[in-house]
Amino acid sequence: MGMQTGWQEISGGVHAWVFARGSWGESNAGLVVGDGGEALLIDTQWDEPATRRMLAAAPLGAATIDTLVNTHPDGDHTWGNAVVGAPRIVATDACVAHFDHEDPQRLGRLVALSGVLGRVPVLRLPGPGRALPQGQLLLRYLAEMGRPWEFGGVSLTWPTETFSGELTLDVGGRRVDLIEVGPAHSHGDLIAHLPEEDVVFAADTLFVGVAPIMWVGPLTNWVAALERIKALRPKVVVPGHGPVSGLAEVDLLIEHFAWVAEVGAAQRAAGRSPLDAATDALRSTECASSPWAGWVAPERLVVTLTALEREAGGAPPIEGIRQRAALMTQMAVLADRVARAA
Ligand SMILES: [Zn+2]
Repeated sequence: MGMQTGWQEISGGVHAWVFARGSWGESNAGLVVGDGGEALLIDTQWDEPATRRMLAAAPLGAATIDTLVNTHPDGDHTWGNAVVGAPRIVATDACVAHFDHEDPQRLGRLVALSGVLGRVPVLRLPGPGRALPQGQLLLRYLAEMGRPWEFGGVSLTWPTETFSGELTLDVGGRRVDLIEVGPAHSHGDLIAHLPEEDVVFAADTLFVGVAPIMWVGPLTNWVAALERIKALRPKVVVPGHGPVSGLAEVDLLIEHFAWVAEVGAAQRAAGRSPLDAATDALRSTECASSPWAGWVAPERLVVTLTALEREAGGAPPIEGIRQRAALMTQMAVLADRVARAA
């Protein structure tokens, strides 16, 4: 398990691009190199320069990427599509139905604005122990999240081929099974299984060392996706965020979701807000002594609890820029509460 961002060979001709940490936008990718000069890339990066850096280091040999797979529509897995130049881009129908759910230029303007406003002296911390107003917490959160990325230069490049259910690809003699397991983390999540190498690229159905975020759900479907991965009995599981893993990490996420489901049920029974319930849950001694105590971005819990509440109330999933922005604000508030409690 390397501590530096880079390509790791998992099996002969099968590689994972792994970030040292797996926070916002620090997304892993996969590369399968076949025998006949073909290669398949699984996911890109959050912007075009980062994708170019990833491709420049790719252990392709004489092969060319002729097929790109997008595991789900989120920008941190798809906004580098244009620079890959693959003639064939494969995703699920549900992924394509939500492919433009975020606008890179709009996000770029928002991040640029929050960076500028964050430097205005009047918006600095008012003093120890006092929380900033919500709007300023949001600006600071967005500025930190977006600083490394160039969203403004992204040209959204759509999949050229879609499927529902399962699709088997042949990459120069190597079999790659694409299995739709969403909706879970997002719309149209898929995993890639290499049965001959016993490898699963789990994409964002698996987060390791970083809190999972459920924008869509239902949670039962996400747990079913993890059970599906287990049933494939892979030796190696590459998460969407975090280090190369195995089934122990899949089991741990299942255990974590059982805790999240409990927190959510208690929150709804008590008629509390997801934000207050998430605050207490993250400050609890139970959480502090759990295996997920040190996970990056714990404030994502408020998004997952909100999705669970909508699910329980029969409401449609979190959708659209306004709902997402409101939840970004809540994550900024929660991150600040957790940081100040520590
Ligand atoms: Zn991701």
